[in-house]
Amino acid sequence: MTALAELPPLRESLEAHGLLARKSLGQHFLLDLNITRKIARLAAVGDGDLVIEVGPGPGGLTRALLETGAEVVAIEKDARFLPLLEELGAAAPGKLRVELADALRADEVEIAAGRPANIVSNLPYNVGTPLLVKWLTGPFQPAAMTLMFQKEVAQRIVAAPGASAYGRLAVIAQACAQAQIVMDAPARAFTPPPKVDSAVVRLTPRADRPAPALLEALQTVTAAAFGQRRKMLRSSLKTLGGEALCASAGIDPARRAETLSIAEFQGLAAALGR
Ligand code: SAM
Repeated sequence: MTALAELPPLRESLEAHGLLARKSLGQHFLLDLNITRKIARLAAVGDGDLVIEVGPGPGGLTRALLETGAEVVAIEKDARFLPLLEELGAAAPGKLRVELADALRADEVEIAAGRPANIVSNLPYNVGTPLLVKWLTGPFQPAAMTLMFQKEVAQRIVAAPGASAYGRLAVIAQACAQAQIVMDAPARAFTPPPKVDSAVVRLTPRADRPAPALLEALQTVTAAAFGQRRKMLRSSLKTLGGEALCASAGIDPARRAETLSIAEFQGLAAALGR
């Protein structure tokens, strides 16, 4: 049996299996194990931990995660990678389960089966944001997430009030989790290289994450406020109560969305729910 350390380089395995990246599935691979090992270190997972990985592809990040001793459940939509992932699984017996599925539809509560689980992924660009929102606001609460996004999306996740990248995604993400960019990855780190640079964001869900009803109100308020971000709240929030809503949250209706803190948005959402 081949051990993890004896597996051939990923580039060779991809060639041996005749695999080319598919753009429609956001396939940009990390073939350099130094990079994938760094991501596994940033994820801080180890022996016996459960990791859910979306989009293992040829398995570079999967291999680094398995090297830590973690158990990995990998959800992949593209069946072409199954033989390669089987070879990887054989080198780490009992540690890798691959589910051929669309991660947007995956039931992580069922996958984790009551165990705490980390999510670690070099996310496909086209579904990165909806997947993040699902993990932030859905029924499954990960212990932590270590996720590669396009840099521009990573900046929108961690943006502070006043920044041009501050918007709905920052408010929802930071209301639900602590978020930090922990690594930059230039486009040339990927095969094939995408048009833009990427970054890894580490998110730790807050124990006091807003309840579902408050989150729904937060989605409504932020959609309206940032839908017309140049306007004063009295105008952008008009259909939700405008001045009266601001008054009940103790917020000056002459302010603009980008100046409000996460807590102030939560105050508006709570007022909307009342
Ligand atoms: N983890 C690999 C790496 O770092 O080299 C591949 C990352 S690549 C950016 C994204 C992967 O996600 C691809 O393998 C792609 O087939 C897969 N993928 C795309 N959409 C998906 C979906 N909806 N559900 C599950 N996997 C998906």
